[in-house]
Amino acid sequence: MQRPVFAANWKMNHGPSAARAFVAEFTAKWSPHADRTVLLFPPALSVSTVVEALSSRSDIGVGVQNIWTEDRGAFTGENSAPMARDAGARFVLVGHSERRHVFGETDEQAALKCAAAERSQLTPILCVGELLEQRQAGETESVVLRQLKAGLAKLSSAAIGSMAVAYEPVWAIGTGKTATPGDASVVHAEIRKALETRVGAAAGAIPILYGGSVSTGNAAALLAAKNVDGLLVGGASLKVDDWALICGT
Ligand code: PEP
Repeated sequence: MQRPVFAANWKMNHGPSAARAFVAEFTAKWSPHADRTVLLFPPALSVSTVVEALSSRSDIGVGVQNIWTEDRGAFTGENSAPMARDAGARFVLVGHSERRHVFGETDEQAALKCAAAERSQLTPILCVGELLEQRQAGETESVVLRQLKAGLAKLSSAAIGSMAVAYEPVWAIGTGKTATPGDASVVHAEIRKALETRVGAAAGAIPILYGGSVSTGNAAALLAAKNVDGLLVGGASLKVDDWALICGT
């Protein structure tokens, strides 16, 4: 991934028709840029449509927002890594805060999902972040590093070297509150240090994205912070104009 990385998490928005229209409008506005990576994470039902709509735009990657831990079987309602790969996805969000805190996903499941991603040659973006009460209790670093260490546990060093990590404080997601660039930078530095412990110098090349109420107004300041190598954007990625402005930061 060429840094900076701009990743759009559409969450449960933009079904196939809206996703197709978004891509047509976005690609008309956004020309290929060799100096950055742009990724779209549509809902699973829209992935094939987005992949097809981007067939002449290999500069824009597509990922899924979630996978199950197993490759196939009796898991009604789930999607597996091989299926995501077959649909044209090359990336996957693992451990997003909504998966952890709305659906009760555990660190162990995040580790298994990262392993499933590696088996199918999907690149995981492992999401980590603390709740407000954990931040207030001074537990940010311990929570983030626990989630990080657990999520990486089943990955090879090679897979870690080519993945990305997203720091997304839970209290900042969809709330309009963001970490200050300084606060984000402190946590990102801790993440980098922990990655170095695991993979040495290769850690320097792993993009660490910030996410949490990123907007056209704050993207530049966040991206300028040390160790912030990209942005994972929810709400502001749903509007073509805002998303194109953020990608151009
Ligand atoms: C997200 O969904 O990962 C996210 C950061 O959402 P928002 O930008 O809306 O806070």
